[in-house]
Amino acid sequence: MSAYDVIVIGSGPGGYVCAIRCAQLGLKTACVEGRETLGGTCLNVGCIPSKALLHASHSLHEAEHNFVRMGLKGKTPSVDWKQMLAYKNDVIDQNTKGIEFLFKKNKIDWLKGWGSIPEPGKVKVGDETHEAKAIIIATGSDSTSIPGVEVDEKMVVSSTGALELAKPPKKLVVIGAGVIGLELGSVYKRLGAEVTVVEFLDHITPGMDAGTAKAFQRTLKKQGLTFILGAAVQKVETTRTKAKVTYKLRKTDEEATLDADTVLVATGRAPFTDGLGLEALGVTMSDRGMVQTDGHYATNIKGIYAIGDCIDGPMLAHKAEDEGMAVAEILAGKAGHVNYGVIPGVIYTHPEVASVGATEEVLKDQGRSYKVGKFSFMGNGRAKANFAGDGVVKILADAETDRILGCHIIGPAAGELIHEICVAMEFGAAAEDIARTCHAHPTYSEAVREAALACGDGPIHS
Ligand code: NAD
Repeated sequence: MSAYDVIVIGSGPGGYVCAIRCAQLGLKTACVEGRETLGGTCLNVGCIPSKALLHASHSLHEAEHNFVRMGLKGKTPSVDWKQMLAYKNDVIDQNTKGIEFLFKKNKIDWLKGWGSIPEPGKVKVGDETHEAKAIIIATGSDSTSIPGVEVDEKMVVSSTGALELAKPPKKLVVIGAGVIGLELGSVYKRLGAEVTVVEFLDHITPGMDAGTAKAFQRTLKKQGLTFILGAAVQKVETTRTKAKVTYKLRKTDEEATLDADTVLVATGRAPFTDGLGLEALGVTMSDRGMVQTDGHYATNIKGIYAIGDCIDGPMLAHKAEDEGMAVAEILAGKAGHVNYGVIPGVIYTHPEVASVGATEEVLKDQGRSYKVGKFSFMGNGRAKANFAGDGVVKILADAETDRILGCHIIGPAAGELIHEICVAMEFGAAAEDIARTCHAHPTYSEAVREAALACGDGPIHS
């Protein structure tokens, strides 16, 4: 038996970042992971591999649609699926090995196997039991399905199976117009599939600023994705060669079917805490299976903490990372803290969509008076040069104080641009602060500044 200051269960972005910060702060740390490789869902079957396929398929799109316009002639590349998957797996490999290196560098023990907590202060991995002053549950989440739909990871797949298909689909039905459905749906659209997205709500991307969601849907439609909104999927039936998706239109109760060779189920994720023994320990959970924690990530059982997807809040890798750092700091006697008002969200389609802070709908609900500064990428020289004029930056600022309350961007590199606003919001900046900051020309960032100018005396290029 070995004794640690901290044992983190789970090595996803929440867990591994937490373990590294604990070690950096002088705590003797171990991390339990049952997968063959470190990094959790994000590095192995989530954020990172999907970004590789998004990059590869976008490159193909550029070659098919924009190369000739730029005077680049020659044979358009075709898809070598085996090689594309090998490239994706190589990216995974580099990233997961990177975490292994960081564990060694920071003297963190990787306890290989699935962990459970037989009693407070103890973690069992395989036949061995280890002691820890603090145990941190960072076991993440797992994809869920809906009644009548059985995921076989071959024809009916979750995001995990969608990253390992035997071949790119010809006819793909995506259930759920959330982040996963739209990112992977656009990958396979660009690789030549006919893609139909069936969504329960009457709009895509729940929680997104409504105007931005509408504009995003228009953009995806232009790219050839078909949407069936307000439709609840009832069941998916499969034969050896094809799947039949039955859905019901919520307004009329009318039923219809769609044929597909692949169905992606992207209807959300649920916290994953199976096998930890939390029930026997008496750890308080919510009805939806989330571990309940206080403001310091402590559960109701002394010495047991939880972070990331298995507690409340958005299921985002970077939210988990920040919680991981915060709880490490708290355990080391420092003032760990996460500003939940400034957590960006990014959808990595092309163009990207990024947002932070309040949506217009939230501000209206709160009865706040606000102003809107908008700027289209059509007025941005760099975007024009790069065929990336489709998109807009929208900044929401307090009508009286000019303080930035939120920002919603569709456009090139939106996932990078949003961080200027995150920093500004962290410092309590006004839109005028961004408007008065010199921005290099020609950059996409100028569009952010122009939107800030639009909150005041007006943008220059529109
Ligand atoms: P989601 O919750 O974002 O979207 C699921 C969608 O499925 C919703 O719009 C819902 O209305 C719809 N739906 C549910 N039941 C349905 C039915 N019977 N018929 C039709 N539609 C139905 O879930 P997701 O896209 O699976 O993502 C899961 C989590 O992972 C989210 O929290 C997401 O933020 C996170 N994630 C984030 C990123 C990123 O940040 N880029 C990438 C991947 C996943």
